[in-house]
This record gives sequence, C-alpha cells and structure tokens, in this order.
Amino acid sequence: MRSNSRKPHVLFFPFMAHGHMIPTLDMAKLFSNRGAKSTIITTPLNSKILQKPIDTFRNLNPNLEIEIKIFDFPCVQLGLPEGCENPDFFSMNNSEDRQYMSLKFFSSTRFFKDQLENLLETTRPDCLIADMFFPWATESAEKFNVPRLVFHGKGYFALSSEYCIRLHKPQKRVASSCEPFVIPDLPGNIVITQDQILDRDEKTEMGKFMTEIKESEVKSSGVIVNSFYELEPDYADFYKSNVAKRTWHIGPLSVINRGFEEKAGRGKKASIDENECLKWLDSMKPNSVIYISFGSLACIKNEQLMEIALGLEASGASFIWVVRKNAGDEEEWLPEGMEERTSGKGMIIRGWAPQVLILDHQATGGFLTHCGWNSLLEGVAAGLPMVTWPVGAEQFYNEKLVTQVLKTGVSVGAKRHVKVMEDFISREKVEKAVREVLVGEEAEERRRRAEKLAEMAKAAVEEGGSSFNDLNRFIEEFSS
Ligand code: UDP
Repeated sequence: MRSNSRKPHVLFFPFMAHGHMIPTLDMAKLFSNRGAKSTIITTPLNSKILQKPIDTFRNLNPNLEIEIKIFDFPCVQLGLPEGCENPDFFSMNNSEDRQYMSLKFFSSTRFFKDQLENLLETTRPDCLIADMFFPWATESAEKFNVPRLVFHGKGYFALSSEYCIRLHKPQKRVASSCEPFVIPDLPGNIVITQDQILDRDEKTEMGKFMTEIKESEVKSSGVIVNSFYELEPDYADFYKSNVAKRTWHIGPLSVINRGFEEKAGRGKKASIDENECLKWLDSMKPNSVIYISFGSLACIKNEQLMEIALGLEASGASFIWVVRKNAGDEEEWLPEGMEERTSGKGMIIRGWAPQVLILDHQATGGFLTHCGWNSLLEGVAAGLPMVTWPVGAEQFYNEKLVTQVLKTGVSVGAKRHVKVMEDFISREKVEKAVREVLVGEEAEERRRRAEKLAEMAKAAVEEGGSSFNDLNRFIEEFSS
C-alpha cells in the first residue's frame, strides 16, 4: 500500500467451516500486513478457534490491526442442535443426516443479515469480502454503498470448469454416467465424467441456492481468488474474459504463515504435540514420508480406512496418516497390530493435524489428498507431488488440474462424487499410487515440476510478484 494513502477497513465474512475460515483468516492477516485494518465476522464458538492465531499474529506484529466481530447464531432457535456453529459438528454422522443438516445450516445463515446490515451501517468499511455461501450479502452491502467481493475458496480451474459445464451441459449428451467427455470451451481438453461432477437439479432447494449464489456474484463488485497466476494462467484468463471480469488473485494465502507458531496454529488445536511431530519428521530421510489427509469434512467409512491402512503398509512407505475420528471411537478401521508393525515408520494422527507444518518439512515427499483447494494449494506451495483422491464438492476438477495440467500427481482412481455414490478404492490401488508418487524416474520428474511450482508460488507473493501486485491494485482501488 502507498504510504500516503488512508488505512482501509476491510470486513471479512467467512462461511463457518474450516476450509473457509482458515484461508479467510490468512487473507485478513495478509491485508493487515499490507496496511489495512481487518475485521473478521464469526460466531461465538468459531471465534474461539480464530482467537488464538489472531493473538499470535498480534504478538508478532503489534502495530498491525486485526480483530474479530462476533455475531449471534442461536442454533436451537434456528432449528439446529445446540452448539452447531460449524459443519464439523454434524459431518461425522451418516450421509442422509448430513445432507439435511447441510441445507438447514446453509439456510440458517440468513439470520446474520440484520446483524451484518447494522455493522455495515455503523462502521462503513471500505469493502466486504463475504463468502459465496452468503449470497444475500451483496444486497445488504449495496444498501450502504459498500462494495461486496465474493470469496469462493476455489481456484480458477474449478470455477471455469463449473462455468463451462453449467453453460453447455455436456453430461446430458453421454451414453452413460461413467463415459468420459471433454469439457467444452475449457482450454486444455480436460476429460471428466458425469459421475465426477455435481450435477445438481436446479429445482431442488440446494439447486435454487446455487442459482442465487451465481446471481449475487454477477451483481457483486468482483471475486477474490486464492490462487496465483502462474499456476493456472489459461484458466485465470478464461475466467476473467468469460465469467467475472473483476477478479484479483492474491494467493497462495497459506504462505503468510511463516514460523512454527503460525503454521502450527491453523484451524483446530492439533491432536498431537507439534514438536513431537516435527522431531519424528526430523528423524526421517528427505522426501521419504507420505502425508495422507482428507481435509476437515470428508467422512471416510471404516471399510475404506481399513483398505487404506493395508495399502499403506504394503507400500512400505513411511507415512503420517490423519484419520478424522473422535478419540474413543471404536477403532474397527485399523488392522490388528498395524501400529506396532509400522512403529517408527508410520504415525497415525486421530483428529486434527498441523498440516502446513508437516507439508513444509523436508522429510515429507508426497501428499495423498482429497484435493480440497486449500490442501492442494498448500501442497503446491510445499513443492509436493500428490496422490489425488477426490471425494466431493469441486475436488474432481482440482484433481484434473493436478493430473492433466500440472502433471504433478497420480490419481488413485476415484470414479464417483460422493453425492452420486460413495466410492471404494482397493488396497492395491492405494499401494500402487503411493509407490508411484514416491519412487522411480517418473516420480523424480513429477517432483521437479512440483518444486518449480513452489518456486513460482513463492515469487508470486513476494514484492513485484503477480499476487503481490494484484493485492496492491485491490487495496488502492478500494481504499479510495
Ligand atoms: N487442515 C489441517 N489439519 C487437518 C485437516 C485439515 O490443518 O487435520 C486444514 C488444511 O490445512 C486446509 C483446511 O484444513 O487448510 C482444509 O481445507 P480444504 O479446502 O483442503 O478441504 P475441506 O476441509 O474444505 O474439504
């Protein structure tokens, strides 16, 4: 930011799920770093997750301004279970419950409208960066002449793919739902199947909600993207010329976290001592460990976890495996004696892992990921080749970016979006993909390409880099 310009006040309003709150907090820190005052809106229970990393940031940067504003979210009054302020609360249950709860949760967030309008009226921020899942926020901001920007938490590739599929509906012209087709108009001849996309009926409640999101985006002042130009230049250009002309890419956002404390403090409290975890990694050879995680929401069935365990063990690779289970859950997913057999070679984290700390360690040599956009970008920033195992949301598009465009990943062979049917991947496929990404000549080539991307990511956020410059342009425009 130019030193003579006024300090802009930016209001951030993330959807209350880790995959949205984590990058938004990173973004708020980044804006503060560049001279803005950042305010993050959240609910009482979620504020407890955000407060500690904010305190850390403030201690490290006493002159920078960042704060939380808490909005009321009376769960019971809204028909949600007590304390249900984050999908974390209900995503462990069976899928029918989950679907019902998701819809209920999404619609309950409209309750924020009056509180947001009050805040906009009294504080008059320079802009509001609100999550895609709050489509009503565009109209609220308009009432007070505050520009509303949309944050999807997705990259250009997925946003452009979704646009092309919505426009051309190629999935309607294939003989079967597993027949591959090329996404029309999208650069790069990207191949996907109907089973891998979320083909939502526009007449359903969720379909209508998605339409509302698209409409509000068109009326908004633009889109902020957690990506960097060099990662997906063709798709950044495509998106800007066909979908949203006003976009700013300012990522990868995770790299704002530089030291141990910031990297370790992202999201929930880790279920492992972070220092112990690093000590363990220190004892391993460079690039020898595969890190396995399905993010903060995906619910993997016991039979599948068992198959992953057996595949991992057969691969002979060293590993850190994050399993999203509550402590005390019955461990029917773990082959008998596996932990003893792999002791010294493998580590299972039950609950929450300090992901970026692990990815950035030199011993970590591969990332088996569900291709959530944050995880994928964190893997890119760490220079890691990946085993791709998409499950839901826009993750299959993200997989195609890694395997078909960047060529830094090996697909495990997931065929179906969870909304179509839960997939099952055999232990043999897990073993093969893990080996393929860690050893051999092709693995080395993949690694070299991945390391090159990490260098580009680093350059993008440094002074004069593409993301650095885009953020400058943004701040200059919205502080005047
Ligand atoms: N994450 C983490 N530890 C975990 C699980 C997830 O730190 O044990 C973080 C991860 O680094 C990423 C976010 O949670 O920043 C997950 O977002 P992503 O888009 O990858 O997936 P989602 O959880 O939204 O499916």
